[in-house]
Amino acid sequence: MEFDTIAAISTPMGEGAIAIVRLSGDEAIPIADKLFKGVGGKRLKDAASHTIHYGHLLDPKNDEVIEEVMVSVMKGPKTFTKEDVVEINCHGGIVSVNRVLQHVLKYGARLAEPGEFTKRAFLNGRIDLSQAEAVMDLIRAKTDRAMNVALGQMEGRLSKLIRKLRQEILEVLAHVEVNIDYPEYDDVEEMTHKLLLEKAHFVREEIQKLLQTSQQGKILREGLSTVIVGRPNVGKSSLLNSLVHENKAIVTDIPGTTRDVIEEYVNVRGVPLRLLDTAGIRETEDIVERIGVERSRQVLKEADLILLVVNYSDQLTAEDENLFEVVKGMDVIVIVNKTDLPQKIDMERVHELSKEHKLVTTSLLEDRGVDALEEAISSLFFAGSLEAGDMTYVSNTRHIAILNQSLHTIDDAIQGVETGVPIDIVQIDMTRTWELLGEIIGDSVHESLIDQLFSQFCLGK
Ligand code: GDP
Ligand code: ZN
Repeated sequence: MEFDTIAAISTPMGEGAIAIVRLSGDEAIPIADKLFKGVGGKRLKDAASHTIHYGHLLDPKNDEVIEEVMVSVMKGPKTFTKEDVVEINCHGGIVSVNRVLQHVLKYGARLAEPGEFTKRAFLNGRIDLSQAEAVMDLIRAKTDRAMNVALGQMEGRLSKLIRKLRQEILEVLAHVEVNIDYPEYDDVEEMTHKLLLEKAHFVREEIQKLLQTSQQGKILREGLSTVIVGRPNVGKSSLLNSLVHENKAIVTDIPGTTRDVIEEYVNVRGVPLRLLDTAGIRETEDIVERIGVERSRQVLKEADLILLVVNYSDQLTAEDENLFEVVKGMDVIVIVNKTDLPQKIDMERVHELSKEHKLVTTSLLEDRGVDALEEAISSLFFAGSLEAGDMTYVSNTRHIAILNQSLHTIDDAIQGVETGVPIDIVQIDMTRTWELLGEIIGDSVHESLIDQLFSQFCLGK
């Protein structure tokens, strides 16, 4: 494919000592060559691929020095975009990087749109759509584990599985064709039905397995929205502090947001907890009293995880009982705090109320029990699969929606075979499933969808 040459700053704004201006396209090397003056008059035009060159950028108009630079020359197709790529490393600082970018634009490059480098990699066949989306996830990854999921996806783990499923469907479709072409052979029809059911069930199961990982995948990507509830003085703020202090808090740096609406993430053994911000219901004292059981249920329902704190050194009150009532059926960890003080709580009753929940005892004052709490959090969301680092997760909303749709069409196909629907109708459902799965890896995606997807990327990626 033929594209113009694009350029952008590809390192985070204002961060680090080095900043990179990246160019991609047929003119990438000639444009850089116009500006570059290497030691001993070396020209970038003559440079071998994948080499780095020290020198200065000069404005060709007046020979004014723009920057002292290191320039990497990488010739396609062995580059991220499959096009010729030049990376100009400069001394950071927003002013100097911008100066370099401005000159590159002045001498023939066009400013890249957000995500355009990745889009090119996709359009040039270097990566498939799910891999491109993974690049975006990587940029936003909140914990190492989330990063690994994205990395796995970028390496094509999901794509590989999807391709395999599509291949299975194609094989069945080929058999169906034979059946339609040679209807006079009875046993062909019988075999086709058997094979259809077999493969359709196999594909169905694999899709379902993938969908089951989606909850975890989504949590890894977006964080687990967490609310701490309990009546006044039980230790909610102490719990919040200890979670934030023991675990590296990840503050997302979204431009344009002010400090008080920034969400706080803490990384609990690879599970990113998104502690709902102050405007939300991070700490809900008297929530039940204030808005009633039903309303508070609605509010808390938005949360993925409820940490319900009660006081070991105090009797259970009606308010405590109310809270247990409100959180019924949700993912709850009950925390019995202040175990360093004499017991007044009826633990038998607490166990009874916590039957469907996990329960830990803590003394936040003496810093005891927090490990057990973290263990409970991580086991709640990686039940049994904590070590399964090479699992294929689905975390992307678009992928989940498509998988749900294809589950539907494959079900139609299975039902069709079982109820004796004409085989060419079943064929349509199978074909539709094949098409849908193709949308995940971008084999049959509409152009505007592609534009929309890539526009979500950061600039310079
Ligand atoms: P909140 O009102 O639920 O947010 O409770 P706080 O976290 O503000 O704690 C209320 C009081 O209990 C503070 O004085 C804390 O220092 C104290 N506190 C918290 N956890 C413990 C604990 O485990 N043991 C004891 N003895 N005091 C605690
Ligand atoms: Zn408090």
